[in-house]
This record gives sequence, C-alpha cells and structure tokens, in this order.
Amino acid sequence: MTDKEAMKLAFEALVSINPEFVCNSAHHAKKDRHEFDEECPVNMRYRTAIAVLEEQLENHKKWVGLTDEDISAVDWKRNETLHDFARSIEAKLKDKNT
Ligand SMILES: [Zn+2]
Repeated sequence: MTDKEAMKLAFEALVSINPEFVCNSAHHAKKDRHEFDEECPVNMRYRTAIAVLEEQLENHKKWVGLTDEDISAVDWKRNETLHDFARSIEAKLKDKNT
C-alpha cells in the first residue's frame, strides 16, 4: 500500500464519523476537558487531521511534467546508456513532483 492509499483510507474513515460523536465518545484527558458550551479540543484535533489529510491528498493529485527546457537541460553523456538517460529524466521528474 502506498502512502497516498493509506492517507485516503484514513481520510475516508475520519469523514465517516460525525464530529458530535467524537466529543461524546472520545476519552478526554485532563487537558482536553471542557464545558458543554466550550470548543472541544479533541474535536478540534480531529478536524485538523481531516483538513491536513485532505490538503495532502489534493497536493498528491497535482502532477508536474517536464518542459522542453527541462529535458534539454538533462545531458546525455558520451558513455551513458539509454537506461542511464531514462534514470536522469526520472530524477528530474521526481525533483519537480516532491
Ligand atoms: Zn469534547
């Protein structure tokens, strides 16, 4: 399983739970205890986790290709095989997509 697949599973699991349920059923450590009319720190962390996962999944969707200039900048050296050149192109793509 890739990291993206794991993030997607976690995201889908988290969004399937009603936030009201999180406060009502989660253990509240001393630092997280709150009055009925106060914001729930457990729920806030829960919603932050969902937002971060959503953002990360969105960023993973964006693929950046190489421009003609990028490809031209990769030198095919004298004794380099086609395989080596392909690896150089792969490295350039990884640079732009990580
Ligand atoms: Zn709570």
